[in-house]
Amino acid sequence: MAVKVSDIMKKRMAFSFEVFPPKTDAGMDKLVGKGGVLDKLNTLHPDYISCTYGAGGGNVGKNLEVLDAVKAGGVAVPITHFTCIGNTKEGIKTQLQTYLDHGINHILALRGDLPFGWSGTGGDLHYATELVKFIRDEFGDKFTIAVAGSPEGHITCRSLEADISFLKQKQDEGADYIMTQLCWDMDQFRYWRDAIAAAGITIPVDVGIMPVLDSKATINMALSRNGCVIPRKLAEIISKNWIFDSPFAPTEAEESANAKKASFKEAGIEYTIGLIDEYRVAGIDGIHLYALNQFDDVARIVKESGIKDILD
Ligand code: FAD
Repeated sequence: MAVKVSDIMKKRMAFSFEVFPPKTDAGMDKLVGKGGVLDKLNTLHPDYISCTYGAGGGNVGKNLEVLDAVKAGGVAVPITHFTCIGNTKEGIKTQLQTYLDHGINHILALRGDLPFGWSGTGGDLHYATELVKFIRDEFGDKFTIAVAGSPEGHITCRSLEADISFLKQKQDEGADYIMTQLCWDMDQFRYWRDAIAAAGITIPVDVGIMPVLDSKATINMALSRNGCVIPRKLAEIISKNWIFDSPFAPTEAEESANAKKASFKEAGIEYTIGLIDEYRVAGIDGIHLYALNQFDDVARIVKESGIKDILD
């Protein structure tokens, strides 16, 4: 019987990684080559590994190559992210069939971010709700479907209530579980968790966690698209290790910038582990770590947080 990760989450907390399709051949080799990052991540026995998808399908080939490698590893269930913007129903159907032909039957069904200046999705489907319905209509139960949930509300939602009602609609159309947008604000997460339960959302919640390893990437992830709250504790780590232009200080010398990067990473790893503790106590169904195509720091977080009992 084929594994459904939503079934795993109904029994115990799942644990998974997210990777992205590298842009270069060297990056690809580092990720999927023999002894590469995927092989190493597999030594931590994740339940699944998901691979992101360039909105509009810019990197479909590499996305599939990465997922083929996850499948070939024989450890983790491969899950593709998939966006419907800029695509026709026929195009979506063909692509989804290709995934099935490759043995990939788990999908994170997304709308995708609209590029700046677009007023619509430029395709046949307009929201993830429609994509979920389309997948169920065309493919029945062949796919396990995950959908995105935003504990702080999607950046363009007219209200958190509206956003939650659309999330309920995704469940009603046949979604199997929720993968969350990153959220460092635990009070907000607990509020959202209660609010979705009150709205009748019962499918498992798999929490997305970005390891805090690099200040630029952290600020970028929080503010470039998602408008995420940065709690005081994390803001302090960023401020204490500030390496960017500042009106009150000369440009950082390379040596001290490197020392600050190292100290940021140390504090960030500790922060990430604390966050995982808080999420586990909040009673979630899965931890989905953005592995950022890296192994060493991610493995350290997995081991030190005790997500998995790993024998060295
Ligand atoms: P939707 O659920 O369609 O929501 C979009 C907005 O429309 C929200 O504001 C919602 O409130 C509103 N809305 C929803 N339904 C309706 C309706 N019926 N009527 C009116 N309003 C509605 N992007 C990528 O390009 N590639 C990736 O690999 C990727 N991976 C992601 C992984 C996770 C875990 C998450 C959380 C996001 C990811 N994204 C990715 C980003 C995602 O594509 C964007 O956040 C996108 O803007 C919204 O996608 P969605 O599926 O949440 O959209």
